[in-house]
This record gives sequence, C-alpha cells and structure tokens, in this order.
Amino acid sequence: CGVFGIYAPEQDVAKLTYFGLYALQHRGQESAGIATFEGPHVHQHKDMGLVSQVFNEAILDELPGNLAVGHTRYSTTGSSRKVNAQPAVVETRLGLLALAHNGNLVNTVKLREELLKDKFNLITTTDSEMIAYAIAQEVNAGADWVTGAISAFHRCEGAFSLTIGTPEGVMGVRDPHGIRPLVIGTLDSQPLRYVLASETCGLDIIGAEYLRDVAPGELVWITETGLESFQWHQKSERKLCIFEMIYFARPDSLMHDETLYSYRMRLGRKMAAESPVEADLVFGVPDSGIPAAIGFSQASGIAYGEGLIKNRYVGRTFIQPTQAMRESGIKMKLNPLKDVLFSKRVVIIDDSIVRGTTSRKLVQALRDAGVAEVHMRISSPPVTHPCFYGIDTDTQDQLIAATKSVEEIAKQLQVDSLAYLSWEGMLETTREDTNSFCSACFTGDYPVAIPEKMKRSKLI
Ligand code: 5GP
Ligand code: SF4
Ligand code: MG
Repeated sequence: CGVFGIYAPEQDVAKLTYFGLYALQHRGQESAGIATFEGPHVHQHKDMGLVSQVFNEAILDELPGNLAVGHTRYSTTGSSRKVNAQPAVVETRLGLLALAHNGNLVNTVKLREELLKDKFNLITTTDSEMIAYAIAQEVNAGADWVTGAISAFHRCEGAFSLTIGTPEGVMGVRDPHGIRPLVIGTLDSQPLRYVLASETCGLDIIGAEYLRDVAPGELVWITETGLESFQWHQKSERKLCIFEMIYFARPDSLMHDETLYSYRMRLGRKMAAESPVEADLVFGVPDSGIPAAIGFSQASGIAYGEGLIKNRYVGRTFIQPTQAMRESGIKMKLNPLKDVLFSKRVVIIDDSIVRGTTSRKLVQALRDAGVAEVHMRISSPPVTHPCFYGIDTDTQDQLIAATKSVEEIAKQLQVDSLAYLSWEGMLETTREDTNSFCSACFTGDYPVAIPEKMKRSKLI
C-alpha cells in the first residue's frame, strides 16, 4: 500500500494528497482514499479503483481542511471490497481519527479478542482498522493522542507504517523493525510544514523536500507548532524489506541517499560478475528488470537493447480476453520485437521469479520470435518463502523455487541457462549493514515471529 499525510492549513491539502497518492499508485491499485480534517470535522472520500478514477476536481473540492491523510490499497489481509478502503475512520473520546496503513499485522487474532471486549463494531476485516480501534480504546481509557497511540502500537506485532489524522495533527509511525518505508518531507513554506509519504517519489511530485526517514520504532507528531519526535519503541532494530529495494518501490525513490534505479543497476553489475554468459543482446523485462539489465550490460560489455515492449496503458481489464488471446497470454502486456531478437543469443533480466508463470510465457514468446539462445538472469535470490508483512506473495506451494532447484526451474522455463543473484551479493550491494534488512522470502528467517496458525496458512 501507499500512505500519505500532510499538515498545511495554508494549502489545498486534499489536492496535494491526491498528487502524493498519484505518485504512489504503484504500491496499490485496488482502492484509494483521502480524509481531511477541518477542526473536528472529517471529510472523506474512498472507493475502489485507481487514484485517477476515484477522485476528480469536484470531489477534491468537497474535502477542505488543515490536514489530510491518504491511502492506496494493495490487498493482503481482508477481501477486496469498498468497506476495506482506507483511511479507516474511527470515533474516540477526543474526536475522530483517520488511519492509513501500509504493512500487515501478524497478531490479529489476539488483537481482535482484546477489541471485542470493548464491543467495537468490527464490520470490516482489515488489520488496519484494528490498529485504529486499539488507539481509540487507549484514548477512551483516558490517554491523549500520542500516549494512547503509543500504548496501542505496543499491542501490534508485524509491519506497520502509518499516517494518522486527528483534529490536532498528523502522526507518522513505523513499527520497531521499520519493515515498510515512510519518509518525511518539508514544504517550502513559512511556517515550515511537513509531509509524510511511503516513498520520496510522493514528495517530489508536490515539490516537497526530503528531510529524513521516520526511524524504526519512531512516532512523529506534526501539529501547528511543528514536528515532535517520540522513539516509542526502545528495542528497535531495522529490518527494511529488501523486496522494497529490489522490486516494489519506484526506481526514482531514494533509499540510503541514492535512487533505487542506481541500486538496481548495481545488482545487474553484480550478476554479470557472478554469472557471466556469452551473448549478443541483454534486455530487461519491463519495467522492473530494466535498471538491472542496464547494469548487466555495462559490466559485461554485451550490447543493451529492448527486446520486449510494454503496453504502458495496461491496467486491470474487467473484460475477459478470448480463449485464443488467453493462450497467447502475456502478449496483452508485453510484445517481443521480432526483428531485434531473431537469431540472437539473448540475456533476459528480471528482478524476481515468483510463480514462474510470467517467465515461462516470456521465454516461449522469445522462442517464437526466433532467438538462438535464451539466458535468464534474476537480480535477487530464489523466492522460497511467502511474505507475512504486506507483500502479497503466494502461499509457499505456489512459489516455484520452494520445491524446485535452479536446474529444475531452468528446465521448466525452457531457458538455456538460468542464474539468480546470490543472497550475499544482493545484500552487499546495498552498501548497508546486511543485518538491517528483512529478506525472509529468500531465507525463511522471519524477523517478527509468525503465530503457528498463520504460518500453517501459507507454508507447506
Ligand atoms: P513470475 O515469472 O513469477 O510469474 O513473475 C515474475 C514477475 O513478477 C517479475 O517481473 C516481478 O517483477 C513480478 N513480481 C515480483 N513480486 C511480485 C509481487 O509481489 N506481486 C506481483 N504482482 N508481481 C511481482
Ligand atoms: Fe519483504 Fe520478503 Fe521480508 Fe516480506 S518476507 S518483508 S517481501 S523481504
Ligand atoms: Mg516485473
């Protein structure tokens, strides 16, 4: 999911939130929502669909306020329905709160029990709404916004990057492992006003300047008087999702003072060093494989070109393709450049293989286009374990690398050679402490313990 938050009474906060969400669209395409606070009054609009489909000028004009939070949803827990669209708005003793969540809690069974004691009406099924109710429970018991929220966060386990609107101000929060990203930006204004976004691309689009990340286990409280920081969890240990770096976040977003484009290009260089191959042409699977393909080309000296063209306007189509179209599968989205590929030995680069279904179809399409050899290089290690922290990978039995060796996968995909980047190579390339990442989908080493029942729902 993508989350956004802003405190700026002088500005059209709904419109700025709209554009922030527009830049974060890649983080979730299922639903979108904005809630604004005009003193104690909340105005909100949320619906299924893309940000550009859910909002228009007239709707944004109905969302006045001093502050706003927004959300784009990618469903992990909870079904894909309008009631699950966020921000979740909940009533408390101190007024309404609106919460936008990126991540996934793992202790929802226990949390639900605690909340039901207070007869909260848990109409929807999301873990995100439970966080909002947990805050309400603490506030209703007498706490103020910040101490109430902190008590509630201590009851949450898993991944949560949050933006929360209240009548007084906006909160930005990360779980003690900082699994999902969240950044702070400033608007060029007097007085200084602050913005929160999942990624820096959400700041760039509105001309906000990147200040810093919200730290793991930190809460920032942004009000009329500025920004206050609370380290709400004392034993924080950063475990940023490495998948954010290799695939999920936008290539123009900054992490560790460089764009992910640059990081992904270095992954490609590393791959060329680890698993060289003789070939005539290297290209990436658009768009996620392209930066690594450029790096691979630079380091190997093999010419870079395009081998596949992506229809940039493919979104979700609700019209079912014909049977014949379905058999040709992938061509709706990616079309091979036949004359470029014909009789060439090609290296095709992708960021990851999950089920292997896309990759299998792509290789077939390349064969149909008359390539001489197909060598596949993947800029991350084999995905062997499902994610419980908010990236919707399949159950373990659906993951091709969970049950098959690299050799067997190569055979199934019908490539002439296949190599994955090593786990060490991927982590070293970050230039950060290799312990500061979650990479459980490659190792099964989950930084936040998963309750047995939840484990059994996804693991073989
Ligand atoms: P596969 O060959 O496993 O069917 O598809 C691999 C492709 O899926 C890669 O290009 C990668 O960018 C993309 N991918 C990786 N992780 C995810 C994910 O969590 N969700 C979706 N929808 N695609 C992913
Ligand atoms: Fe990211 Fe994988 Fe960890 Fe999930 S399990 S948070 S996708 S690294
Ligand atoms: Mg891809």
